[in-house]
Amino acid sequence: MSNTGDSCIFCLIARGDAPAALVYRDDRVLAFMDLFPLSRGHLLVVPRAHAENIFEISEADMLEVAALQLRIAAVLKAELDPDGIAVYQANGAAAGQTVFHYHVHLIPRADGEGFDFANRKTADRGELSRLAARLMESLQRGPQN
Ligand code: AMP
Ligand code: ZN
Repeated sequence: MSNTGDSCIFCLIARGDAPAALVYRDDRVLAFMDLFPLSRGHLLVVPRAHAENIFEISEADMLEVAALQLRIAAVLKAELDPDGIAVYQANGAAAGQTVFHYHVHLIPRADGEGFDFANRKTADRGELSRLAARLMESLQRGPQN
């Protein structure tokens, strides 16, 4: 497993050594807001253990990531009511991967909205943190909301 430790931004975030607008973290997985969102609510779900891509991640971690995806998707739907949610996961630069620590994107979508990965702005960190806190609270309240 290459690029672990200090040089991997998602390892740093997982350890709390780099800033992120966290929505969820336990000893296996975490979810945080994408810093260059394609849309409001664009989130990443990530295993804590470093694995570069689908060829390295353990089945156990992948299943944990998938379970958290389900919970996060429900919270996005409940809180932001998007027309749709895109789930996207890239393996290798040729597939568009830019951060080489396995991650799944959850991207709220609106009817008629374009999909332009290349044209994104850095989000306001304060705004991201407020949204993350709201989503975290909703996740903790559970599926009854
Ligand atoms: P990919 O292109 O699939 O590898 O996605 C990597 C994602 O990580 C991109 O959508 C980036 O905007 C996002 N990203 C990069 N650095 C950070 C960071 N420090 N905090 C949050 N998201 C990040
Ligand atoms: Zn890593």
